[in-house]
Amino acid sequence: MVYDYCVIGGGIVGLATAMKLLEMQPGARLVVLEKEEGLSRHQTGHNSGVIHAGIYYTPGSLKADLCRRGAKATKEFCRKHAIPFETCGKLLVATNELELRRMNDLVERAKLNQIEVQPLDAADLRRREPNIIGLGALFVPETGIVDFKRVCEGMAAVIRAAGATIELGITVTSISESDSAVTISAAGGKWEASKLIVCAGLQSDRLARIAGLKTDHQIVPFRGEYYRLPSSKNDIVRHLIYPIPDPDLPFLGVHLTRMIDRTVTVGPNAVLGFAREGYPKFSFNLQDVAEYAGFPGFWKSTLRNIRHGLKEMKNSIFKAGYLEECRKYCPSLQIGDLLPYEAGIRAQAVMKDGTLVHDFLFLETARMLHVCNAPSPAATSAIPIGEILAARMTRFDSGSVIN
Ligand SMILES: Cc1cc2nc3c(=O)[nH]c(=O)nc-3n(C[C@H](O)[C@H](O)[C@H](O)COP(=O)(O)OP(=O)(O)OC[C@H]3O[C@@H](n4cnc5c(N)ncnc54)[C@H](O)[C@@H]3O)c2cc1C
Repeated sequence: MVYDYCVIGGGIVGLATAMKLLEMQPGARLVVLEKEEGLSRHQTGHNSGVIHAGIYYTPGSLKADLCRRGAKATKEFCRKHAIPFETCGKLLVATNELELRRMNDLVERAKLNQIEVQPLDAADLRRREPNIIGLGALFVPETGIVDFKRVCEGMAAVIRAAGATIELGITVTSISESDSAVTISAAGGKWEASKLIVCAGLQSDRLARIAGLKTDHQIVPFRGEYYRLPSSKNDIVRHLIYPIPDPDLPFLGVHLTRMIDRTVTVGPNAVLGFAREGYPKFSFNLQDVAEYAGFPGFWKSTLRNIRHGLKEMKNSIFKAGYLEECRKYCPSLQIGDLLPYEAGIRAQAVMKDGTLVHDFLFLETARMLHVCNAPSPAATSAIPIGEILAARMTRFDSGSVIN
């Protein structure tokens, strides 16, 4: 059979896109192909579980708009499908004068992004969070927590109920486009579709290349390593606790996150990975490393960020350095409080000139749309991202554009 749509990737972006395609075109013949034996086994299933409110992003940017709309849509989806979530709010804590100035800039940015924030002084902060110290903090009440794996299960149920198929254990190895269709091949078979949407996360550049697209970027894996606090410390904080981010870096810094199962995690850092899909520490994949080591943009970006990169590497190897990052705002934490927890791996697109891509990156042909970079908070933003991609593929104008 010739499908109307094939979606590659059973992470949250692929599933949200499939769901929106079926909503816009009920009865469409659609198949989702996922290489793992279950859904959301990569970035989506290894993240902090935060529904971001979206205060960080440049006002007026696609990322800011998608995050604000995505947070609302995610909560609505959870309510409708009885998926537990909590709007617990977060505190961005300033621990020095520079961070205090950056915090004030964030107040302005939040206003422009139409997100409610409340600046707190040191005493207010202490009253709200007796275990956290700082010169001040910004309270963002709308931030929430959820298990994005559960959200994906909910989306998969909607997709199946609409008559579409999700095939697991299918690693796509070849894609060819003709005037009339796209042929997708894997060891398990061959599929033909009128349109193809590729949402392959950590493998997105490879899939673009096997589809014959010219790419100027390379995916470089960044490990986000977490620890878990002992369950006796599950009540150490009432909100999510974040540092004030460095605007030059695409990562948010080590934070204390209350997960929806009541566990508190610490992390993630952002350290260069030696395997795209190797979660245990010191995982190594020769092909993954050789590919980015042979890409000029990797070395340019490494040289630009060398100081920060070495610090992250040191803190990854020596737990004491990692602990210091958290003790800046949570001084009661001890080294024995940092218990093992599975890492996540971020697909960071790097351009040939060494620029780290902070925004979405799409490549398009007549019948294919490749999502080449879906940066954090793409789990929060997945529903409106899916809406835009689906609108693009069905040529239905939802009023949004892909930059
Ligand atoms: C450490 C970390 C913390 C984060 N925290 C947050 C957060 O708190 N809140 C938030 O909103 N965002 C967060 N993010 C970002 C968010 O998780 C990702 O942006 C989002 O999950 C990306 O989803 P995706 O579907 O694009 O990718 P993925 O979830 O990686 O899915 C891609 C899928 O494609 C499949 N695939 C790949 N190649 C093939 C192939 N050849 N054939 C078939 N299938 C294939 C993979 O198996 C995978 O299932 C975080 C990310 C990380 C790494």
